[in-house]
Amino acid sequence: MDAKKTDPANWRSATKLVRGGTERSPFQETSEGLFLTSGYVYDSAEEAERAFTGDVQRYMYSRYANPTVTMFENRLALLEGAEYCVSTATGMAAAYAALTSQLKAGDRVVASRALFGSCHYIITQELPKFGIETVLVDGIDLDAWAEALEEKTQCVFLETPSNPALEIIDIKAVSELAHKAGALLIIDNVFATPILQKPLELGADIVMYSATKHIDGQGRTLGGAILTNNEDYFENLLKPFLRHTGPSLSPFNAWVLLKGLETLDLRVRRHVENAHVLAKFLEGRKQVTKVLYPGLGSHPQHELAMRQMTGGGTMVSFEVDGGKDGAFRFLDGLGLIDISNNLGDAKSLITHPATTTHHRLSPEERMEIGISDGLVRLSVGLEDVEDLKEDLDQAL
Ligand SMILES: *Cc1c(COP(=O)(O)O)cnc(C)c1O
Repeated sequence: MDAKKTDPANWRSATKLVRGGTERSPFQETSEGLFLTSGYVYDSAEEAERAFTGDVQRYMYSRYANPTVTMFENRLALLEGAEYCVSTATGMAAAYAALTSQLKAGDRVVASRALFGSCHYIITQELPKFGIETVLVDGIDLDAWAEALEEKTQCVFLETPSNPALEIIDIKAVSELAHKAGALLIIDNVFATPILQKPLELGADIVMYSATKHIDGQGRTLGGAILTNNEDYFENLLKPFLRHTGPSLSPFNAWVLLKGLETLDLRVRRHVENAHVLAKFLEGRKQVTKVLYPGLGSHPQHELAMRQMTGGGTMVSFEVDGGKDGAFRFLDGLGLIDISNNLGDAKSLITHPATTTHHRLSPEERMEIGISDGLVRLSVGLEDVEDLKEDLDQAL
């Protein structure tokens, strides 16, 4: 057989997701093996010694590596086009490790203001405790990035599309500014998914995921991952940090996530199709005062979204008439769509950010990132879109 035909790096995304990273045990199982083991045995004392000196590469302890976990990491790396991938127990463990593994007292971090709540907490509450200066900017304002990055900076962190207002940040432009300031750029790529956006190709240095969201996609398990092509960062900072602080992904969860990856391409395409139909439907409703969906021409950064993403995304945010009362009446009137702060699930889920995911922010901080009292965030699921439309229609 032509060797090129079997090189996984040449496979298309859907093939990578079904087959990438699979390593069969001597039993030749079809499906990926689930290795529920914390430790490994050595043939001899000499072999154990060689493993510890690094002269032989092998499994030693599941806090460092585990065959099921490695299969998940290798499959995700192949999809992302990244040289290195490590997984973590949750998305927040990934965000925390991606940041703190490279930071020390006196360093400076610049981040976009519209972040997932816990990422915002780490940057504004945790990092300053260790003597790290943190600066938040309006992510869509390139002048603000340029100004904030005039000083030497260790690390830049951003999320695009942002949660929950779905603003789009220009990854390529910010990566150039970050690199000029000496910083590594970390992208929280959860909302975009690895199917719709490839930050490393746009100039980012590090990509992180909450695998809890679309990668599992069926509401079963927590997980996270960090990907990079930066060997120095990975080998000398991130890997030792994770080995010794221990936020490892459990083999069982890695196995669930491997199965999630198999259908990721299929699911994300359907999520996007449904989201697009619902965004258009909502735009035509008089009780809906604003629709935010990057795939619609009406989105303020639609062109940028279409330049750096291959689809409009799986989330639709919109403002319901009547402020908080109007939004609550609408949510409580839904029959099919569930009220839940989770996202990226097969089931359509809706939340009122001002009183849930972003309740900790002051009213001023919420207004700065576009969270009005009437705003709701819909994670569009895999149901028949006509049923979703009918549910939204009757609740409105
Ligand atoms: C959910 C989420 C996280 C955190 O992931 P967990 O798996 O819940 O720890 C981080 N960033 C974004 C954008 C998320 O949606």
